[in-house]
Parts: sequence; structure tokens; C-alpha cells
Amino acid sequence: MAMEKENHELRAIFVPFLSTSHIIPLVDMARLFAMHDVDVTILTTSHNATIFQKSIDLDSARGRPIRTHCLKFPASMVGLPAGVEAFNVDTRKDMLPKIFMGLAILQPEMESLFQQLNADFIVTDMFYPWSVDAAAKLGIPRIMFHGASYLARSALHSVQHYKPYLKVDSDSEKFVLPGLPHELEMTRLQIPEWVRTPNLYTELMRTIAESEKRSYGSLFNSFYELESDYYVHYKKVMGTKSWGLGPVSLWANQDASDKAARAGRGQAKLEQKGKEEEDSGCLKWLHSKPENSVLYVSFGSMSKFPSLQLVEIAQALEDSGHDFMWVVKKKDGEDGSFLEEFEKRVKASNKGYLIWGWAPQLLILENPAIGGIVTHCGWNTVMESVNAGLAMATWPMFAEQFFNEKLLVDALKIGVAVGVKEWRKWQQFGEEVVKKDQIAKAIALLMGNGEESVEMRRRARELSDAAKRAIKFGGSSHTNLLQLIQELESLKLDRINGK
Ligand code: UDP
Repeated sequence: MAMEKENHELRAIFVPFLSTSHIIPLVDMARLFAMHDVDVTILTTSHNATIFQKSIDLDSARGRPIRTHCLKFPASMVGLPAGVEAFNVDTRKDMLPKIFMGLAILQPEMESLFQQLNADFIVTDMFYPWSVDAAAKLGIPRIMFHGASYLARSALHSVQHYKPYLKVDSDSEKFVLPGLPHELEMTRLQIPEWVRTPNLYTELMRTIAESEKRSYGSLFNSFYELESDYYVHYKKVMGTKSWGLGPVSLWANQDASDKAARAGRGQAKLEQKGKEEEDSGCLKWLHSKPENSVLYVSFGSMSKFPSLQLVEIAQALEDSGHDFMWVVKKKDGEDGSFLEEFEKRVKASNKGYLIWGWAPQLLILENPAIGGIVTHCGWNTVMESVNAGLAMATWPMFAEQFFNEKLLVDALKIGVAVGVKEWRKWQQFGEEVVKKDQIAKAIALLMGNGEESVEMRRRARELSDAAKRAIKFGGSSHTNLLQLIQELESLKLDRINGK
């Protein structure tokens, strides 16, 4: 009997990319499969495993069939210092190709693990297009993980297919993104540069899109009710299967212990003494504040602003009159005295709380004191804010963040645009400094009491309810997961029976 169970158990391998914001949602997804009795192995490198291992340990202790298999990143072979094996806020530009080289060296090992571990299917990040062929060799499905929204992927498809940015006379003239369910307007400067001016990254994206079409399907951290038009549209234009399983952070991290584990304290670099006290300090501060009174300001895990921009943000926050919690990442080598003074002042007035480095974001967002968020529109933060029922002031910077802004501001109407004009390459800040008046205007609308503001917040709360329903039995994401697992089980049976 036990043998029989073993043979029919569905085994999966999940391979996240080497960056925090791709790891977090894919690991949460892997945990959801394990929660539903799929035997899961996550492949990653030792240093990246520290980001999420606590969550896996918690799940194992609960008896769930999940584990991490660590690979040794070949740092010295590619000329990187030991421990540099991820794309994160501190990764220097010259290190990027070396990390990709390290990943290429690991590829054969990963491929042979797919076989050794008897995987029945693999779920791999979009940045592993080769895995579609590896899965085909074994006769098993490859499912691709997208770290973005359905709207963002649909919008990208629209600009690449119709090239509307070539039909305007200037960089700032607006055009409508053709063929989409809403009339979404953008300018040429807000489109990713690699779309406007093809380069090596454009080629990589082309390979990824091609591998997606040959994959069994794709998984998104999104849910039907959030962007149903784009959910349908995307599947139609791509001609592929796709499942929204979101919000994965809400679903996979229901206990306080899970949320705390997700706080990022596991990150080796952040294990510094005092971090736990610091986390509880910021939560204590929030508990002392009235409901919906505090503005949370964060720009994700990947960016550090130059001082010039930090000064504008600080002044806008201080002038806003609202209490705020700001996650600050200061660039190395820049004069930090202005911020130190600022921190002293807002601490004395009890108006503001600065978090240096990494914040326990899930715990912060769900705190009733938080009334709104200024965000760079990173998709994980957007989903986490939707869970928490928060309206957003949108400040996109790179990747697909300008498209996410369109979803929040124009489609869902739960966002107010700060008014950023120019897409930048990750870690490059270009010429544009967003001025304090612009920031202040968006904050006033986000936190204000006028009809527009109240309505925006009401819609955000409605979406939070929809998110909670999506992951319950009978909800859209819940049903998607159960159906997908069933489908994968019958594919396995077909394979065993030689069909
Ligand atoms: N995050 C966090 N604390 C921080 C910064 C980020 O917990 O101080 C988490 C956040 O909750 C989210 C992820 O890191 O899950 C950031 O992903 P997102 O897609 O929002 O932005 P990116 O980091 O890719 O720019």
C-alpha cells in the first residue's frame, strides 16, 4: 500500500531565479503545492536558500512534503567573491554577467537533478528558458513562473506587437496601448528601453517568450477577480494555458510564524544583531498609532535612491502632516547627514519611523494603523497591498512597473500616480528627480478625506475581500490549484501507462 502511494505521489521541482523578489512568490507557490500533498523540492543555491529556509522548516515541521536542495554556486569559477550569487540591491553592474555565467555552469546539474529526483513536473522561473527543453527530454511538463501581472504581460505584448511608440512625434506624446481591454495611455519614455532600443536583454526576452509558448502553461501570482479582462486576454494572445494562484503570500503565510519567517530575517546579511528587536520596535510604534493614519513608503528590494531624491521624499513626508513609516536604503558613499538629522527630528516629534534596510513588510501592511502606501509598483508589493486593502501612490521605476501603475490607477482605480515620466534601467536613476510638490500632491489624495480618496480606499477594501475569497475553497485561485494538480496527476498516469 505504501509502495503504491509512493508511485503515484506527484513529485515537483521548483526552481526560483536568483533574486529576492522572484524567490519570495515562487517559494510561496511551491509551499501551496506541498500544502496540497505534492512532494516538492526547491532547487536553489545555499546563499539564496537563507532567504526562505525558515518557511520551509516550518512547513516540514507541519508534516508537509517539502525541502530545499542546495547547489553550490561556482563563485570563484566566474570571478565573484564567495556569497555573491543573487541579483539584489547591492549587486554591482559588472557582477551581473558573472552571475548569469554561474547559472549557466549550474544548468547541467539542475537538469540531472530533474531526472534523479524523479520529477513529474517542473515549475521554473521565466529566466530559465532552457528548462522547457530539459523537461521535454524527460517527457514531463514545464510550467513557467511569471513574477508579473496579467496586465503587464498583456501590455508588453501590445507594445512589442503593435509598436505604438513609433507612431508618436515625441517621447512625451501619449499613445493608447492597442488591443487591450481598457484605453491605457503611456508615453514612449515609460516603455522599457529594451523594447524601444533592442539589445541583448531584448534577445533574452524573445527566448523567454518562445519558451513560454512551448511550456505546458504559466503560473501567475494574481487572481481572476483582480484583472479578469487581462487574465482572459493574455491567454488568448499567447495561446497558452495559465493559472492565477494568488495572492500567494496571503495563502501560504496564514500564521503569525509564517509572516515573521517571511519578514526576511533569514537573509544572511540581515542576521545582524538587533534586527528582531528593530522589527518589533517598528510594529510597536504602529500599534501606538490610530487606525488608517500611517503612510508606508517603500521602494522594494532592488533600489537605492540618490541623496537628491531622498531629500525630496523626506521633505514631502514631513510637510504632509501624516505619520509615516519609510523604508530607506541609502547609497554607499553618499553623505547621510541630512537623513540622520531628519530621523532625529521625526523621532522627536513621533511623526515618522525610518527603517534602514529591510522591513517586515507583510506584518507592517496588515497592521490596522497603515492607511496607504507609496510604492514602486513591484508586483509582490502590489499584491501584498491589495491583500491588505490599501490604496497606493504609484512611483514606478523599472521592469514592468509602469504597466502595473496602469492597472492600479486606470483599470482598478485604487492608485494615484505620483507622475513619474521615465522608465529607468534597474539601479540607474537618470536625470529625473521627482519633486516634493509632486509627491505631496499624491500623498494628499491618497490619505485625504475627499470623495475621490474615500472611494479609492473603498475599492481597495473590496479587492481585499475578493483576494481573501479567491484562496478559500471554491475561490478562483483555490479551484485553479486543485484543477491543475488533478491535471498533472492524470498526465503522470498517462506517462506511466505509456499513453
Ligand atoms: N520586502 C520586504 N521588506 C523590504 C523590502 C521588500 O519584506 O524592506 C519584500 C516585499 O514584501 C515583497 C518583495 O520583498 O514581497 C519585493 O518585491 P516587489 O515585487 O514588490 O519589488 P522588487 O523588490 O522586485 O523591486
